[in-house]
Amino acid sequence: HYDVLTARLPAATGDRNFVLSFSDLTELRKLEQMRADFATDAGHELRTPLSVLLGFIETLEGPAKDDPDALNQFLPVMRDQAQRMQHLIEDLLSLARIELNEHTPPSSDCDVGKVISKVAESLAMKAQTKGMNIRVTQELENTEMIGEEKELTQVFVNLVENAIKYGHSNTDVEVTISLVKNPPGALARFRHDRIMAVAIRDHSDGIAREHLPRLTERFYRVDTARSRAVGGTGLGLAIVKHLVQRHRGTMQIESEQGVGSVFTVYLPAKTGDNVRKLHSA
Ligand code: ADP
Repeated sequence: HYDVLTARLPAATGDRNFVLSFSDLTELRKLEQMRADFATDAGHELRTPLSVLLGFIETLEGPAKDDPDALNQFLPVMRDQAQRMQHLIEDLLSLARIELNEHTPPSSDCDVGKVISKVAESLAMKAQTKGMNIRVTQELENTEMIGEEKELTQVFVNLVENAIKYGHSNTDVEVTISLVKNPPGALARFRHDRIMAVAIRDHSDGIAREHLPRLTERFYRVDTARSRAVGGTGLGLAIVKHLVQRHRGTMQIESEQGVGSVFTVYLPAKTGDNVRKLHSA
Protein backbone atom coordinates (compact mmCIF):
# COMPACT_ATOMS: atom_id res chain seq x y z
CA HIS A 1 0.00 0.00 0.00
CA TYR A 2 2.69 2.48 -0.80
CA ASP A 3 2.18 5.17 -3.37
CA VAL A 4 5.02 7.05 -4.95
CA LEU A 5 4.63 10.78 -5.27
CA THR A 6 7.04 12.57 -7.51
CA ALA A 7 7.52 16.29 -7.78
CA ARG A 8 9.90 18.40 -9.75
CA LEU A 9 11.57 21.21 -7.83
CA PRO A 10 11.86 24.61 -9.47
CA ALA A 11 14.98 24.28 -11.55
CA ALA A 12 16.42 27.69 -10.68
CA THR A 13 19.89 26.74 -11.71
CA GLY A 14 18.86 24.67 -14.64
CA ASP A 15 19.61 21.48 -12.72
CA ARG A 16 16.94 18.88 -12.81
CA ASN A 17 15.99 17.97 -9.23
CA PHE A 18 13.53 15.28 -8.33
CA VAL A 19 12.04 14.52 -4.98
CA LEU A 20 10.75 11.07 -4.40
CA SER A 21 8.49 10.83 -1.41
CA PHE A 22 7.00 7.59 -0.25
CA SER A 23 3.93 8.00 1.82
CA ASP A 24 1.95 5.34 3.53
CA LEU A 25 -1.58 5.92 2.32
CA THR A 26 -3.06 2.99 4.17
CA GLU A 27 -4.36 5.23 6.97
CA LEU A 28 -5.78 7.72 4.47
CA ARG A 29 -7.56 4.94 2.57
CA LYS A 30 -8.95 3.55 5.83
CA LEU A 31 -10.31 6.99 6.66
CA GLU A 32 -11.88 7.33 3.22
CA GLN A 33 -13.42 3.87 3.57
CA MET A 34 -14.80 4.78 7.00
CA ARG A 35 -16.39 7.92 5.60
CA ALA A 36 -17.96 5.97 2.75
CA ASP A 37 -19.26 3.30 5.17
CA PHE A 38 -20.65 6.00 7.42
CA ALA A 39 -22.56 7.65 4.57
CA THR A 40 -23.93 4.25 3.52
CA ASP A 41 -24.97 3.39 7.10
CA ALA A 42 -26.60 6.80 7.59
CA GLY A 43 -28.49 6.34 4.31
CA HIS A 44 -29.78 2.91 5.37
CA GLU A 45 -30.79 4.19 8.79
CA LEU A 46 -32.83 7.00 7.24
CA ARG A 47 -34.32 4.84 4.52
CA THR A 48 -36.12 2.49 6.91
CA PRO A 49 -38.36 5.01 8.71
CA LEU A 50 -38.88 6.88 5.45
CA SER A 51 -40.16 3.72 3.71
CA VAL A 52 -42.55 3.05 6.58
CA LEU A 53 -43.85 6.62 6.40
CA LEU A 54 -44.34 6.48 2.63
CA GLY A 55 -46.15 3.12 2.98
CA PHE A 56 -48.63 4.61 5.41
CA ILE A 57 -49.13 7.73 3.29
CA GLU A 58 -49.88 5.57 0.23
CA THR A 59 -52.36 3.48 2.22
CA LEU A 60 -54.09 6.59 3.52
CA GLU A 61 -54.28 8.03 0.00
CA GLY A 62 -55.55 4.75 -1.46
CA PRO A 63 -57.35 1.84 0.24
CA ALA A 64 -57.79 3.59 3.60
CA LYS A 65 -58.98 6.87 2.12
CA ASP A 66 -61.80 8.36 4.21
CA ASP A 67 -61.27 5.73 6.95
CA PRO A 68 -60.96 7.63 10.22
CA ASP A 69 -60.05 4.44 12.16
CA ALA A 70 -57.06 3.80 9.91
CA LEU A 71 -55.99 7.41 10.28
CA ASN A 72 -56.15 7.21 14.08
CA GLN A 73 -54.26 3.95 14.05
CA PHE A 74 -51.54 5.06 11.63
CA LEU A 75 -50.86 8.57 12.87
CA PRO A 76 -49.00 7.58 16.09
CA VAL A 77 -46.81 5.16 14.11
CA MET A 78 -46.11 7.84 11.52
CA ARG A 79 -45.20 10.27 14.29
CA ASP A 80 -42.79 7.68 15.81
CA GLN A 81 -41.06 7.15 12.50
CA ALA A 82 -40.79 10.88 11.80
CA GLN A 83 -39.34 11.38 15.30
CA ARG A 84 -36.84 8.62 14.73
CA MET A 85 -35.66 10.41 11.61
CA GLN A 86 -35.51 13.68 13.50
CA HIS A 87 -33.34 12.17 16.27
CA LEU A 88 -31.06 10.59 13.74
CA ILE A 89 -30.60 13.85 11.82
CA GLU A 90 -29.97 15.74 15.08
CA ASP A 91 -27.33 13.18 16.11
CA LEU A 92 -25.69 13.27 12.67
CA LEU A 93 -25.48 17.06 12.82
CA SER A 94 -24.12 16.94 16.39
CA LEU A 95 -21.44 14.50 15.37
CA ALA A 96 -20.39 16.61 12.39
CA ARG A 97 -20.22 19.77 14.55
CA ILE A 98 -18.25 17.98 17.27
CA GLU A 99 -15.71 16.62 14.81
CA LEU A 100 -15.15 20.12 13.50
CA ASN A 101 -14.36 21.42 17.02
CA GLU A 102 -12.58 18.39 18.34
CA HIS A 103 -9.10 19.88 18.20
CA THR A 104 -10.01 23.21 19.81
CA PRO A 105 -9.79 22.87 23.58
CA PRO A 106 -12.76 24.17 25.58
CA SER A 107 -12.27 27.50 27.35
CA SER A 108 -15.22 28.14 29.66
CA ASP A 109 -15.65 27.21 33.30
CA CYS A 110 -18.01 24.40 34.09
CA ASP A 111 -19.14 22.70 37.29
CA VAL A 112 -19.59 19.00 36.61
CA GLY A 113 -21.54 18.48 39.84
CA LYS A 114 -24.10 21.06 38.72
CA VAL A 115 -24.28 19.53 35.25
CA ILE A 116 -25.00 16.09 36.77
CA SER A 117 -27.72 17.51 39.06
CA LYS A 118 -29.45 19.19 36.13
CA VAL A 119 -29.20 16.05 33.98
CA ALA A 120 -30.62 13.90 36.79
CA GLU A 121 -33.46 16.37 37.25
CA SER A 122 -34.28 16.55 33.54
CA LEU A 123 -34.36 12.74 33.18
CA ALA A 124 -36.18 11.96 36.45
CA MET A 125 -39.58 11.72 34.72
CA LYS A 126 -38.25 9.41 32.05
CA ALA A 127 -36.73 7.18 34.74
CA GLN A 128 -40.00 7.21 36.68
CA THR A 129 -41.88 5.75 33.72
CA LYS A 130 -39.82 2.56 34.32
CA GLY A 131 -40.05 2.79 38.10
CA MET A 132 -36.42 3.93 38.27
CA ASN A 133 -34.71 6.61 40.33
CA ILE A 134 -31.49 8.41 39.47
CA ARG A 135 -29.33 8.52 42.59
CA VAL A 136 -26.45 11.00 42.58
CA THR A 137 -23.54 10.78 45.03
CA GLN A 138 -20.95 13.54 44.97
CA GLU A 139 -17.85 12.53 46.90
CA LEU A 140 -15.84 15.69 46.38
CA GLU A 141 -16.70 19.30 46.96
CA ASN A 142 -15.02 21.11 44.11
CA THR A 143 -16.14 19.67 40.76
CA GLU A 144 -15.07 22.56 38.54
CA MET A 145 -13.24 22.09 35.29
CA ILE A 146 -12.56 23.88 32.04
CA GLY A 147 -15.34 22.65 29.82
CA GLU A 148 -18.35 23.45 27.70
CA GLU A 149 -21.47 23.00 29.80
CA LYS A 150 -23.63 22.14 26.80
CA GLU A 151 -21.27 19.42 25.64
CA LEU A 152 -20.77 17.86 29.07
CA THR A 153 -24.54 17.91 29.51
CA GLN A 154 -24.87 15.96 26.28
CA VAL A 155 -22.28 13.43 27.48
CA PHE A 156 -24.15 12.69 30.70
CA VAL A 157 -27.62 12.86 29.14
CA ASN A 158 -26.58 10.20 26.63
CA LEU A 159 -25.05 7.95 29.31
CA VAL A 160 -27.88 8.30 31.82
CA GLU A 161 -30.48 7.86 29.05
CA ASN A 162 -28.78 4.61 28.03
CA ALA A 163 -28.77 3.42 31.65
CA ILE A 164 -32.53 4.08 31.74
CA LYS A 165 -33.16 2.52 28.30
CA TYR A 166 -31.18 -0.66 28.89
CA GLY A 167 -31.60 -0.93 32.69
CA HIS A 168 -34.19 -3.21 34.26
CA SER A 169 -37.44 -1.66 35.44
CA ASN A 170 -37.62 -0.82 39.14
CA THR A 171 -33.86 -0.57 39.58
CA ASP A 172 -31.85 2.58 40.23
CA VAL A 173 -29.35 4.37 38.04
CA GLU A 174 -26.42 5.37 40.25
CA VAL A 175 -24.24 8.32 39.34
CA THR A 176 -21.12 8.85 41.46
CA ILE A 177 -18.67 11.74 41.16
CA SER A 178 -15.37 11.02 42.86
CA LEU A 179 -11.73 12.00 42.86
CA VAL A 180 -9.30 9.51 41.35
CA LYS A 181 -6.42 8.93 43.74
CA ASN A 182 -4.30 6.51 41.73
CA PRO A 183 -5.06 6.76 38.02
CA PRO A 184 -4.86 3.32 36.36
CA GLY A 185 -2.22 2.78 33.65
CA ALA A 186 -4.52 3.86 30.84
CA LEU A 187 -4.73 7.27 32.52
CA ALA A 188 -0.99 7.81 32.87
CA ARG A 189 -1.16 10.95 30.73
CA PHE A 190 -3.19 12.54 33.52
CA ARG A 191 -0.50 12.17 36.13
CA HIS A 192 -0.11 15.92 36.61
CA ASP A 193 -3.84 16.57 36.85
CA ARG A 194 -6.46 16.26 39.50
CA ILE A 195 -8.88 13.80 37.94
CA MET A 196 -12.57 13.40 38.50
CA ALA A 197 -14.40 10.21 37.71
CA VAL A 198 -18.09 10.26 36.91
CA ALA A 199 -19.46 6.71 37.00
CA ILE A 200 -22.91 5.83 35.70
CA ARG A 201 -23.99 2.40 36.92
CA ASP A 202 -27.04 0.49 35.75
CA HIS A 203 -28.64 -2.82 36.66
CA SER A 204 -29.35 -4.68 33.46
CA ASP A 205 -28.60 -7.78 31.39
CA GLY A 206 -25.11 -6.33 30.91
CA ILE A 207 -23.05 -6.37 27.73
CA ALA A 208 -20.99 -9.33 26.50
CA ARG A 209 -17.24 -8.71 26.65
CA GLU A 210 -16.68 -8.95 22.88
CA HIS A 211 -18.94 -5.96 22.24
CA LEU A 212 -17.27 -3.58 24.71
CA PRO A 213 -14.43 -2.28 22.49
CA ARG A 214 -16.85 -1.54 19.64
CA LEU A 215 -19.65 0.25 21.51
CA THR A 216 -18.40 3.74 20.69
CA GLU A 217 -18.31 3.05 16.93
CA ARG A 218 -20.96 4.85 14.96
CA PHE A 219 -24.11 2.78 14.48
CA TYR A 220 -22.67 -0.17 16.41
CA ARG A 221 -25.42 -1.84 18.42
CA VAL A 222 -25.39 -5.03 20.41
CA ASP A 223 -28.99 -5.75 19.47
CA THR A 224 -30.25 -3.58 16.62
CA ALA A 225 -33.93 -4.41 17.01
CA ARG A 226 -33.87 -3.74 20.76
CA SER A 227 -31.92 -0.53 20.39
CA ARG A 228 -34.38 0.75 17.77
CA ALA A 229 -37.33 -0.29 19.91
CA VAL A 230 -36.04 1.84 22.79
CA GLY A 231 -35.47 4.78 20.45
CA GLY A 232 -31.72 4.53 19.92
CA THR A 233 -29.91 6.02 16.93
CA GLY A 234 -26.67 4.08 17.45
CA LEU A 235 -24.74 7.37 17.59
CA GLY A 236 -25.04 8.25 21.28
CA LEU A 237 -21.78 6.71 22.48
CA ALA A 238 -19.85 7.90 19.42
CA ILE A 239 -20.92 11.44 20.33
CA VAL A 240 -19.91 10.84 23.97
CA LYS A 241 -16.48 9.59 22.94
CA HIS A 242 -15.70 12.64 20.78
CA LEU A 243 -16.95 15.12 23.38
CA VAL A 244 -14.95 13.47 26.18
CA GLN A 245 -11.84 13.50 23.99
CA ARG A 246 -12.29 17.22 23.35
CA HIS A 247 -12.24 17.70 27.13
CA ARG A 248 -8.96 15.75 27.38
CA GLY A 249 -10.82 12.97 29.11
CA THR A 250 -11.32 9.30 28.56
CA MET A 251 -14.10 6.76 29.07
CA GLN A 252 -13.97 3.27 30.49
CA ILE A 253 -16.75 0.71 30.04
CA GLU A 254 -17.15 -2.26 32.35
CA SER A 255 -19.98 -4.72 32.28
CA GLU A 256 -20.98 -7.95 33.90
CA GLN A 257 -23.61 -10.10 32.26
CA GLY A 258 -26.72 -10.48 34.31
CA VAL A 259 -25.59 -7.70 36.66
CA GLY A 260 -25.18 -4.44 34.75
CA SER A 261 -22.71 -1.92 33.37
CA VAL A 262 -20.62 0.99 34.57
CA PHE A 263 -19.63 3.75 32.16
CA THR A 264 -16.93 5.90 33.79
CA VAL A 265 -15.87 9.26 32.36
CA TYR A 266 -12.52 10.59 33.61
CA LEU A 267 -12.06 14.35 33.32
CA PRO A 268 -9.28 16.70 34.39
CA ALA A 269 -10.58 18.86 37.23
CA LYS A 270 -9.59 22.43 37.86
CA THR A 271 -6.89 23.07 40.44
CA GLY A 272 -4.74 26.09 41.20
CA ASP A 273 -1.97 24.36 39.27
CA ASN A 274 -3.61 23.25 36.13
CA VAL A 275 -5.91 26.17 35.38
CA ARG A 276 -3.14 27.91 33.50
CA LYS A 277 -2.04 24.71 31.84
CA LEU A 278 -5.53 23.92 30.64
CA HIS A 279 -5.99 27.43 29.29
CA SER A 280 -2.79 27.28 27.32
CA ALA A 281 -3.33 23.69 26.11
P1 ADP B 1 -28.23 3.67 20.92
O1 ADP B 1 -28.75 4.96 20.42
O2 ADP B 1 -28.53 2.50 20.04
O3 ADP B 1 -28.50 3.43 22.36
P2 ADP B 1 -25.46 4.19 21.64
O4 ADP B 1 -24.35 4.65 20.78
O5 ADP B 1 -25.87 5.06 22.78
O6 ADP B 1 -26.65 3.86 20.68
O7 ADP B 1 -25.07 2.77 22.21
C1 ADP B 1 -24.60 1.78 21.32
C2 ADP B 1 -25.06 0.40 21.77
O8 ADP B 1 -24.42 0.07 23.00
C3 ADP B 1 -26.55 0.29 22.06
O9 ADP B 1 -27.28 -0.01 20.91
C4 ADP B 1 -26.60 -0.85 23.07
O10 ADP B 1 -26.57 -2.08 22.39
C5 ADP B 1 -25.27 -0.70 23.82
N1 ADP B 1 -25.42 0.02 25.10
C6 ADP B 1 -25.16 1.33 25.34
N2 ADP B 1 -25.35 1.64 26.63
C7 ADP B 1 -25.74 0.50 27.24
C8 ADP B 1 -26.10 0.15 28.59
N3 ADP B 1 -26.09 1.05 29.57
N4 ADP B 1 -26.43 -1.15 28.83
C9 ADP B 1 -26.44 -2.06 27.86
N5 ADP B 1 -26.12 -1.80 26.57
C10 ADP B 1 -25.78 -0.54 26.26
